[in-house]
Amino acid sequence: MKDHIAICALINHFAGVRAMLRHLEYLFLIAFFHTACLAQSAPQDTATLSWIDEVLQGPERQLKNYQFDPETSIESRVKKPNEHLLAYIRSFEHATEAAQPPTGSELQTVIDAIKMLPPLSQRIMDERVIEISFVKNLGYNGWTDWVVDENGAIYCVMVFDQKALDFTLSEWLEGRINSCFKNDKSGIEIEIDCGNRYSGFLGILLHEATHVVDYIENITPFVEPSIFELGLKYGHQFRESYPFVKGIWYGNASPAEEYNYPLRDSLTFYRPVDQRKLYLKEAALVINQLPSTPFVSLYASTSWAEDLAEISTFYHLTQKLKQPYTITVIEGGESTVYHPMENPLVDARFPVIERFYQTEP
Ligand SMILES: [Zn+2]
Repeated sequence: MKDHIAICALINHFAGVRAMLRHLEYLFLIAFFHTACLAQSAPQDTATLSWIDEVLQGPERQLKNYQFDPETSIESRVKKPNEHLLAYIRSFEHATEAAQPPTGSELQTVIDAIKMLPPLSQRIMDERVIEISFVKNLGYNGWTDWVVDENGAIYCVMVFDQKALDFTLSEWLEGRINSCFKNDKSGIEIEIDCGNRYSGFLGILLHEATHVVDYIENITPFVEPSIFELGLKYGHQFRESYPFVKGIWYGNASPAEEYNYPLRDSLTFYRPVDQRKLYLKEAALVINQLPSTPFVSLYASTSWAEDLAEISTFYHLTQKLKQPYTITVIEGGESTVYHPMENPLVDARFPVIERFYQTEP
């Protein structure tokens, strides 16, 4: 899942729903799902269902248009992007071009990262990832999306910018957070230390692989609104409890009131400078609010799916691979250092992440 660019229209469609959810307790959110299911079958709402049918007509959404064999090794699925998938990406990221699949040391970086993923991520990727491809000018580092078979079972495709193989973990994270802010010559600097032992690609793959797991296992109620629509179409039974989001999220992009900190709505990532909404002088204010939230990064506060992808990524990097994770804001020669993984509100969420390490289905 990328940061919402392709689903702007859908987000607008859901704006009314999100506004409602903001005012409901979590249990009522589940009740709302059931109500919505009933409402969707009413004649006046068939336009909603036809939207997902229209999406499903895209050749990039249909498993039959890909070569997929779950018996093959995941490494062998590193290949050039499927032509339908590439055409779809180019419909909204016009500068994107296919890249040659990585070879030599770059391919080894990919293989090493796959082997370092948590057991659950590896198992679900083996079963459900159709292809892992590389492109130029993707606009962000990684992107995961869904494909369905004729019965509505979900599979995934993963696309990475070839530049994602070039940097360290710290460089990846520092580039990402700085992409939120316009440089206003305020002299403020943001640094992130996540060690230099592992490739940035490992962090990016950890994040994207969590989206794959979430698409299949529904750790959040739905990764993105289209999955909610798919669920309605194919009769998916929403659970009555989603512990990961309980008390923290009212809707997929609506945190509980106490965690919806000022300027959160203005966060943008990987956008051109003229499309960014925040200046560097506001960075200290925004980052200073993180310790009052259960979010492990600014990126995590953008939606429940990104929240899961981020906390599982940093959990693996810090708790399993023993890497540091600090955010430092330097302002007027003074440094303020944040340790998001030591925040008790973040720590309280670790038990849900432990499921990524269960070796049996
Ligand atoms: Zn993501």
